[in-house]
Amino acid sequence: APAQTAPLLAHLNAEQLAAVTLPAGHALILAGAGSGKTRVLTTRIAWLLQNGLATPGGILAVTFTNKAAKEMVARLTAMLPVNVRGMWIGTFHGLCNRLLRAHHKAAGLPQAFQILDTQDQLSAIKRLCKQFNVDEERFPPKQLAYFIAGCKEEGMRPRDVPAHDADSRRKVEIYQLYEEQCQREGVVDFGELMLRSYELLRDNDPIRAHYQRRFAHILVDEFQDTNKLQYQWLKQLAGDVVDGRFEAHGSVIAVGDDDQSIYAFRGARVGNMTDFVREFDVQRQIKLEQNYRSYSNILDSANALISHNSRRLGKNLRTTQGPGEPVRVYEAASDFAEAQWMVDEIRQLVKNDGFERREIAVLYRSNAQSRVIETALFNAAVPYRVYGGLRFFERAEIKHALAYLRLLENPHDDTSFLRVVNFPPRGIGARTIEVLQDAAKSAGCSLHDAVSAVPGKAGANLGAFVALVQVLREQTQGHTLRVIIEQMLESSGLVEHFRTEKEGADRIENLQELVNAAESFVTQEGFGRDAVALPLDEQRGTLTQSPASQGLDPNAPVLDTPLPAAPGIVDADTGETLSPLAAFLTHAALEAGDNQAQAGQDAVQLMTVHASKGLEFDGVFIGGMEEGLFPHENAMSDRDGLEEERRLMYVAITRARKRLYLSHSQTRLLHGQTRYNVKSRFFDELPEEALKWITPKQQGFGSFAPHSGAGGAYGAGAGSRFGFKAETFASPPVPAQKAAPSHGLRVGIAVFHTKFGEGKVLALEGTGDDARAQVSFPRHGTKWLALSVAKLTVV
Ligand code: ATP
Ligand code: MG
Repeated sequence: APAQTAPLLAHLNAEQLAAVTLPAGHALILAGAGSGKTRVLTTRIAWLLQNGLATPGGILAVTFTNKAAKEMVARLTAMLPVNVRGMWIGTFHGLCNRLLRAHHKAAGLPQAFQILDTQDQLSAIKRLCKQFNVDEERFPPKQLAYFIAGCKEEGMRPRDVPAHDADSRRKVEIYQLYEEQCQREGVVDFGELMLRSYELLRDNDPIRAHYQRRFAHILVDEFQDTNKLQYQWLKQLAGDVVDGRFEAHGSVIAVGDDDQSIYAFRGARVGNMTDFVREFDVQRQIKLEQNYRSYSNILDSANALISHNSRRLGKNLRTTQGPGEPVRVYEAASDFAEAQWMVDEIRQLVKNDGFERREIAVLYRSNAQSRVIETALFNAAVPYRVYGGLRFFERAEIKHALAYLRLLENPHDDTSFLRVVNFPPRGIGARTIEVLQDAAKSAGCSLHDAVSAVPGKAGANLGAFVALVQVLREQTQGHTLRVIIEQMLESSGLVEHFRTEKEGADRIENLQELVNAAESFVTQEGFGRDAVALPLDEQRGTLTQSPASQGLDPNAPVLDTPLPAAPGIVDADTGETLSPLAAFLTHAALEAGDNQAQAGQDAVQLMTVHASKGLEFDGVFIGGMEEGLFPHENAMSDRDGLEEERRLMYVAITRARKRLYLSHSQTRLLHGQTRYNVKSRFFDELPEEALKWITPKQQGFGSFAPHSGAGGAYGAGAGSRFGFKAETFASPPVPAQKAAPSHGLRVGIAVFHTKFGEGKVLALEGTGDDARAQVSFPRHGTKWLALSVAKLTVV
């Protein structure tokens, strides 16, 4: 290998090295927690690039969270100077989003389709139930949402769902109506992102062939938690079935750990691992058995626990690190006392043992446990951060603001329309909404289009609302995201409204934070930097043979030219790109929970065990180790459920590097009831010699007064809670006009586009490969175009 690869491979053990330098071909890396699976994937990408065995554009890597994707990109950029823009690294949802934007026409969607989060989806279903007189007792909207998501995960459209009785026929009918409603409004939910892009690949030979040729290297992390549809999606990208046999194009490398499969309730199939080996005829399987994360007391505990599961694929984990501290176990009198003990221990770890707060995590089985812990941390003024609690983009005031922004993009988005038509209140009552909905239903149009059908004062009020949005849209044409949002906050009346509210100051601050979020999205993320699609014809004919070095398959296709970097999410045919606003709205929907993670602040991390997968911390607390809570009562009745709980516990334990603390409480206030608890059976499955039982110092109930008002308050200090620090946008983006554009366009001149004809330039943004123009075409409306893709000529 060239000398420069030495540092890249220097610290790997023999198995890791073999995995990183695998020749082309499919492989499965099956290994336990902390054995370097993720590190191996990242290093392999770097190694492929460094040795010219792949170009960034030839790589597709799937991670489990956005955070993991960002980390992978960060590590790659640290390892070697790569242009990450051509690489497709992201979650399944993120990658599907990118595919659908690039080929929205083939997928039957508007390019600026909006993404419904779980909340939006539920309100869309509720709305539909009202409209079609669905009995909500019999068909609770939550269950319907679950049903629809389940169908989509199985790859089933309404016509594919077997329905044998009246109830299931009704459910399928609702699924059908829901689909029609989403299509009409131009919105997709998370399940739809996945299913629609799977169908796009399946039904469009040229598009599928294009991506199959492009992605010579497909790498999948946390493969044990993929569901059926995700596996089928991967297969579409990897190859075709020819004469009943699957023939793959590129190489697929999957890494996973069957003991960490914890998403069965969301359709995850460990069976995908065995299917993969069989269907891809996988010749190489590598096991990694050295754990680099934890001291042996922690690792022994994990190993002993998981050995109680049956039906494991079988692998070992060892460590060369010493035993370390014993695992500390604490029994508390109440959940308050438990929380107080955690806080005390955390302070000691920070003060006496030099732990950083961000390197300490408190994990819990169920979200409801977090409030007491938050309160204790808050009262003790220990900064902390909650993952997946009330997320920034899910807060009510933010959702209102986003709804206005979505209406600017798409007035037919009925979910957004309903959210803000009377917020702030403008005298539009429930009765009026009903009349409007009826009118829309009988005309088969959006609420926006039905407004003129409502008579009288009510109609006038509705008309005023529509006009307000219309005026705002015209006023903000061609303006920056910041200006758009600020104007929206003013003219919608949102800020004014919260000024008069008692607890409005907080909300106004959050709305201000939204401006910051948008600003840092534009500057830091480069406006959807990682969302690059290629025009199909620029790709054709650029395949060459790879250098026949490193024992790699010399026939593996490799792209010989660096991929053009195009900004934003670009239509593969016309070069049309999302407006900055639409790109930001996509970002808000896809990354709802992630922003709190990027903060530079040193804060204790609180999260569910599910959310902790793949992460590691110096110190880990696992609370609520009680029968009924962990293992959870819903899962205790059958063996499968219990084994999944045990895998969850295995995940939790293996997050810890140096210190592990387990606790349970005799009483717990949960869902408004005091429960008297028995300690978890998992304690009996841990090796006694690795544990140290601590006698509770004081078990009184009165020692700690819960602070009820702190539920939503974060101890982290105002202004930086979400990581959108003022510094990150200290230098605003340079206006394109001043940056001596190479494209020769100016605002106001006339241009010609091969598809849209003649138009006028309204605005310009970005430079070089990032340059984009907003152009108004008489027949096709106003569009944002990526200049590196859409070749505009001056007329
Ligand atoms: P999980 O199953 O929890 O996702 P994983 O198998 O993906 O774990 P990594 O997160 O890749 O494991 O690695 C665990 C830790 O061990 C990381 O801090 C990583 O940097 C470190 N590590 C991995 N391999 C080595 C090595 N060869 N030498 C030193 N440290 C290593
Ligand atoms: Mg990992």
